[in-house]
Amino acid sequence: MSSRVLIAEDERRITSFVEKGLRANGLVPVCVSDGASALAVAMSGEVDLMVLDLGLPDMDGLTVLRRLREAGLTLPVVVLTARDGVRDTVAALESGADDYMSKPFRFEELLARIRLRLRADRGPEPTVLRAGDLELDLRTRRAHVDGRTIDLTAREFVLMETFLRHPGHVLAREQLLSAVWGYDYDPGSNIVDVYVGYLRRKVGAQRISTVRGMGYRLEPG
Ligand code: CA
Repeated sequence: MSSRVLIAEDERRITSFVEKGLRANGLVPVCVSDGASALAVAMSGEVDLMVLDLGLPDMDGLTVLRRLREAGLTLPVVVLTARDGVRDTVAALESGADDYMSKPFRFEELLARIRLRLRADRGPEPTVLRAGDLELDLRTRRAHVDGRTIDLTAREFVLMETFLRHPGHVLAREQLLSAVWGYDYDPGSNIVDVYVGYLRRKVGAQRISTVRGMGYRLEPG
């Protein structure tokens, strides 16, 4: 079963960036943009984790967090804080936040924190992802093709991981861009195409198909 992640954030650009990234990684996003709704959904028991912005209308994030903890709920909470909000960060951790990210952040860092907090409740994640004879070991950060080890840069690895989590699915350029590079990247950039080219050279061109006008697909076998 996919985990449901509540995103409580009033900045539309960030919400949509996190939403797309979570979906691209097999999680189910639930979005709200004010504090009162955040508290209501968090209390409903229908989500597995909350990403909580501290600056929210109606009720600020710290109040949401305190009320949630006062009600005895242990839902994991990852707080989003402003760049210079050291005091906010401390207050959030003291109020029962499990982790925090300061803005601006890269999606993969937020995802790592979310996975870490979700893993506490669920069984361990698979450590090796496979599609046919293509293998990615998430612990050793090594890739194998047909039994042969290949070297991937950090960015290539994350891109490959994103493909391997969705074998056979078409992934749009912007989906890959936000999953691997983050929301501060220019959507008009051709960096995704460039990196898909690098990966093709390393793992074999036939493994990643171009789906015209849509994006790319990892061939499952
Ligand atoms: Ca805000």
